[in-house]
This record gives sequence, C-alpha cells and structure tokens, in this order.
Amino acid sequence: MVKVASRMEKIPPYLFARIDKKKEEAKKRGVDLIDLSIGDPDIPTPNHIVEKMKEAVSEAKNHRYPSYEGMIEFRKAVSHWYKKRFDVDLDPEREVLVLLGSKDGISHIPFAFIDTGDLALVPSPGYPVYRIMTLLAGGEPYIMPLKEENDFLPRLEDIPDFVLTKTKLMFLNYPNNPTGTNASDEFYEKVLHYAKKHDIIVCHDAAYSEIYFDGAKPRSILEFDRKKEISIEFHSLSKTYCMTGWRIGFVVGNRDVISALGRLKTNIDSGVFQAIQVAGCEALLGDQTVVEEIRRIFKKRRDILVESLNSLDFHFKRPMATFYLWVHVPKGFTSESFCEYLIEKAGIVVTPGSGFGEEGEGYFRISLTTSEEKIVEGVKRLKSMSF
Ligand SMILES: *Cc1c(COP(=O)(O)O)cnc(C)c1O
Repeated sequence: MVKVASRMEKIPPYLFARIDKKKEEAKKRGVDLIDLSIGDPDIPTPNHIVEKMKEAVSEAKNHRYPSYEGMIEFRKAVSHWYKKRFDVDLDPEREVLVLLGSKDGISHIPFAFIDTGDLALVPSPGYPVYRIMTLLAGGEPYIMPLKEENDFLPRLEDIPDFVLTKTKLMFLNYPNNPTGTNASDEFYEKVLHYAKKHDIIVCHDAAYSEIYFDGAKPRSILEFDRKKEISIEFHSLSKTYCMTGWRIGFVVGNRDVISALGRLKTNIDSGVFQAIQVAGCEALLGDQTVVEEIRRIFKKRRDILVESLNSLDFHFKRPMATFYLWVHVPKGFTSESFCEYLIEKAGIVVTPGSGFGEEGEGYFRISLTTSEEKIVEGVKRLKSMSF
C-alpha cells in the first residue's frame, strides 16, 4: 500500500459510490437506464464555435504556450460581453483572468487567501468544491445552510461574530446548483454591505447566469459592487454554450484578488490552449441566438417535468434557472435510499441531495440534461410506481 499525505484524509469518501454500483448492476441486468443525474448538457457545442476551433487549431501561432492571464483578445471579449449583458465596465488588462473552466479558479482561490485556521463561508447544499478545497488549503469551512423557507438564501444574521474575525472568503452561487433558485437584488446588496463591514471577499459562482427561464434575468454581483471593492465573479462557457469538455471559463472583479489568483496559477498550469480561447471569443461575441435555443430546450424539459411531478404529488419549488429540479424525497425514504429505489424499480438515475452537504438530506436532484423523449419515458415509469 502506498501512504498518501494526511491532507488526503480531508477528502470525503466518494458519495455516489453506492449509487454508481447500483447503476452498473442495473446496466448489467440490461435495464434501459434513464440518467437524470448528470450536470453536463447533452446538447452539442454550437456549430460556429466548433468551426472557429477547427480554423484556430491549424494555426501554428496557437500551438505554443499561451500567456498566463489569457489572450488580450479573449479578455477584451469578456469585457465586451459583460458590458452588454450586465452594463458593468471591466478593465480587460487587470480585472479579467482566463480559467481552465471556472472550477480551476474556484478550487484555487482558497490557496491564495486562506491561512491555516482561517474560515470560508460555504453554502450547504452546494457545489462540493468550495468546502473541500477550503479544507485542503488548511482552512475551515463554516456552513451557511440554505433553507427552503428562506428561499435557499443564507441567513447572514445567523453567522456568529466569533466566526467573522477569522473569515476571509464567502462562496455564493446564484442561480444555484442544486436548488435552481436565484437571488434577489436585496440579497446581493445585503451581502456586499456585510462583506465590506467584515472585510470578507465574496466569491460569486455565476456558472448558470445564462440558464434562466422566467422571472428576472440573473444579475452579476458586480452590478452591486461597481467599484469592485470586495467581490469577484466566476463564469463559465461550459453551461452557457454547452462547452463543458473544452475547459474554458473566466473570473472578473477586484484586481488585487484577480492578481493574487493569477500569481498562484502561474505555478500550477500554463494557461488555456489558444485555439480554445479563439473559439471562446467566437462564443462570447458571435451569434447569441444559440443561447436562446439552449434555454428554450431546457425550459421545455423543465415544464414537462414540473407538470408531471406536480401531478404525482412530489414537493418542490419550480426552478427559475439552472437545469436542475430540487425535489423532496417521499416519506419514509432518505436521499440515498430513494435514489437506490428509483434505479432498482424504475431504471431512473437521480442524484441524492446528501451529496451536496448535510442540508441536502431529504432531497434529490433531477438534471434536465437528457432528451425530451427520455424525460417523457421517465415520467411514464414514475406514474406506474407508488411511493
Ligand atoms: C458546472 C459547475 C461549475 C464548473 O464549471 P466549469 O466547467 O469548471 O466551468 C462551477 N460551479 C457550479 C455550481 C457548477 O455547477
């Protein structure tokens, strides 16, 4: 046996191992599985972006190491997109950094700001990376519960004072994975007031800013922090343009925070393949009707599922954004036992809420990243079951 570093003990056991095993067993039995567990769009990357990539990949000048902070053309494209979408001005030289997907920035930010014993405020349920990377950086995550009765927003007034003196970062994510909710303007204002008062850097994960259905368009946190005093925002081309496999995203906001993250990253990676950045410029500056089409597809799937699950007496809030539904498990089940039951009895795979933190227990997450036909078939199977 090899002996791993003790910090590896901070990585929790893989939570979906049992579900994966059940899934494999069902596959072996020849069950036609309907997988509604994946956070990865099934829709291909729009064609004009793929074509741009083909061109860019054959140009020798793109074959060399890229610059660490990203091509200036890409950073200008980001600032142009931001201005158009949020009416926020960004200095492409100092307030924009390219990332190998937003996960790259999210996972490394604690290493730039957390000293041993420092705290980061982390939402639960939430994207597990915030919590685990805070731990690996030697910090302590302080959990902010997202409760349904509070519209899945954290209650800042519940965070005790003694925590605040050691808190360096706050992670937020709206539109939210896994709950599908969005944050109000008042919430952002409250957060920024709070963060300035207590000197906490707000790290807003806006990976789903363009996957919205009804209600107001999601806002950027920088619309509420126009001087970029205390916040940064992570964005991704993954969900907006169905480019998860390409690995490109960006972070914008406070220049000192961006500069520190950039300095750290010069020692970790060597930038994003330039051909991908060229294709990324095409995504951000080219035809945006493709994004409307992506929203239309997810909205149709959402509407089918919302209506069917309502008629089946499942309890949940209709998601305003993201491609997830966050649903209460029926009485008598835990998150995990219900997910196992669905695989066994219906050949349907969903994600147990407990995988997103303790506050996720009692829920399961349905992902809309499967074709409409499969979703309709899944609903049919559910209708023939009893809970
Ligand atoms: C998908 C996702 C990301 C990561 O996306 P990248 O592909 O790394 O850009 C970040 N945050 C949340 C909440 C996500 O769901």
